[in-house]
Amino acid sequence: MQSLVRDRTCGTCTACCRVLEIKTLGKPAGTLCEHNTGAACGIYKNRPAACAKWHCLWRKVEALPDELRPDRSEVMFSLETAPTSEDPFLRARIVGRALHGPDAFERWEAIEAIGMFVREGSLPVWTAFGSVASLIYPEPTRADHLRDAIRHPHAARNRGHEEEAAAWRLRLGYGAAPQEANLPGTKSPLGRLDSSPETGETHFATGTAKLFNGTKG
Ligand code: SF4
Ligand code: SF4
Repeated sequence: MQSLVRDRTCGTCTACCRVLEIKTLGKPAGTLCEHNTGAACGIYKNRPAACAKWHCLWRKVEALPDELRPDRSEVMFSLETAPTSEDPFLRARIVGRALHGPDAFERWEAIEAIGMFVREGSLPVWTAFGSVASLIYPEPTRADHLRDAIRHPHAARNRGHEEEAAAWRLRLGYGAAPQEANLPGTKSPLGRLDSSPETGETHFATGTAKLFNGTKG
């Protein structure tokens, strides 16, 4: 399990208790958990294991600015996985979820965080509001070129795609049990991130608008 950033606590943030689906509680995404008091978990000592082990990336990645705390920046970043997804760029992904509206992605805190994840480059980066999401990295046209090369490595049509697709295949856990995959690499400034359980997602084509919910498990 990746350690949490020292001296960084949730405080009164309860974003994940509203934004994420929690299957063990039967709580849908986008509604505040019935156990939440508005400022904390009302069943903290007895909360489900899914809640106890889940943390957003602000709690895990020290390089993210303090101001990015989800209730203050209005964006919550998390690592999500869907190891059997048809779309390679959904198998493991960083998602920034706006809490109240997509304007939050124009604030400096979110711009800085997205820029950092894109520069780091290990995993696809998405932004989402509600159940509608957009692929930021790789850039959608590039992603369209890469999807087939990642899924069918021997059918890659050009050398550039073949090499890039091979690197993505490693990072996205193809050919290895997802929990053993290096997501992202140990040299990554993100470190080795914990993966969340597979999300319930909708199947869709290769456009940039996607539909999926995040989940704690
Ligand atoms: S979204 Fe992050 S900071 Fe907020 S309560 Fe959840 S884990 Fe804590
Ligand atoms: S049970 Fe889980 S989702 Fe509900 S308030 Fe507690 S930590 Fe949040």
